[in-house]
Amino acid sequence: MYIPYGRQNIDQHDIDAVIDVLRSDFLTQGALVPGFENCVARYCGSEYAVATNSATSALHLACLALGVGPGDIVWTTPLTFVASANCALYCGAKVDFVDIDPATLNISLVELEEKLAKAKKNGVLPKVIIPVHFTGNSCDMAAIRKLSFQYGFKVIEDASHAIGSSYENKKIGNCKYSDITIFSFHPVKIITTGEGGMAVCNNKKLASQMELLRSHGITRDSSSMTHEPDGAWYYQQIELGFNYRMTELQAALGLSQMQRIEDFISRRHVIAQKYDEAFKGKNLEIHAHPNRGQSSLHLYIVQLKLSEITRSHKEVFDCMRELGIGVNLHYIPVHLHPYYLALGFQPGDFGIAEKYYQRAISLPIYYGLTDKEQQKVIDSLCGLIQ
Ligand SMILES: *Cc1c(COP(=O)(O)O)cnc(C)c1O
Repeated sequence: MYIPYGRQNIDQHDIDAVIDVLRSDFLTQGALVPGFENCVARYCGSEYAVATNSATSALHLACLALGVGPGDIVWTTPLTFVASANCALYCGAKVDFVDIDPATLNISLVELEEKLAKAKKNGVLPKVIIPVHFTGNSCDMAAIRKLSFQYGFKVIEDASHAIGSSYENKKIGNCKYSDITIFSFHPVKIITTGEGGMAVCNNKKLASQMELLRSHGITRDSSSMTHEPDGAWYYQQIELGFNYRMTELQAALGLSQMQRIEDFISRRHVIAQKYDEAFKGKNLEIHAHPNRGQSSLHLYIVQLKLSEITRSHKEVFDCMRELGIGVNLHYIPVHLHPYYLALGFQPGDFGIAEKYYQRAISLPIYYGLTDKEQQKVIDSLCGLIQ
């Protein structure tokens, strides 16, 4: 049996919830999407929530709601999935990156401060910064918020890894230190809706703007129209929006999955603990964030001590795959993709993220990973890094 690095866990309750929707009147635009939005908002302590068909769509809507457009600049970390950067390009804005902190693997605060001071001098400050809570470990949001007030940029937390994580003992998504927070419900993430995402915030205007753009820029609210409705059928398109809606099937699955979110996360902690103990004294660097206790642990990453072992990074990776273990690498630094190189980025631009990329391996971690499977992962990896 092939062991993937991550996978969903679907139980009978999840299945029944989706089947109930199939037998119901509404497959889309019913009551379950608002229900799921309320559930997530209550869970993470935000006032508003806007469900979407992916986190990528939610990131796009968040950028648009914050007014990102041509001539603007958005910064994020190079160590993320491409969607954290692409969302700015969709809006016609420019993207730049701030290298990571090698200890936390999150955006480096030291680099960020330096880059902001320089950007201010040159008159090229970013409009929005998108910190990513890498593997579920929160960025230092209080510090980022302080800089955001000092330099006048907005903050979107890409919490695709981090539903269920906390910062200062409060759930990520409460948006105390940001304008909007984004979650992903892709099957490898903490909970799933198949595809799906959500934007949460505490600002009514931002929430209504994201709702409007999620559904074609069409309103049925007469107070937002240019004149009285022609009749009961009437609606107006007042902006250029998209169809980024989540279906009722997805929302039903999400609501059902939310009932088990704490179980999902605590199982991930048990798995991580077992890895930690097994890898003590081995030629590996563990990503041991000081606040890992508050992380939802989307990923468990090790970095090889290449000077201590005979095999190369690629050899270890290939051998693990041959043994049926779906190790992965999160992520290829965004600026090294051909599309970004063509925009003018170069190898060497973000050296810490690049060095990480040469050594990192993501190991299987998910609710249904059995002890026996995990032992196979441990024995296989330890055998390869003598
Ligand atoms: C998964 C992920 C996304 C994209 O999520 P989708 O729901 O697949 O669109 C964006 N950012 C990060 C950091 C992710 O891990």
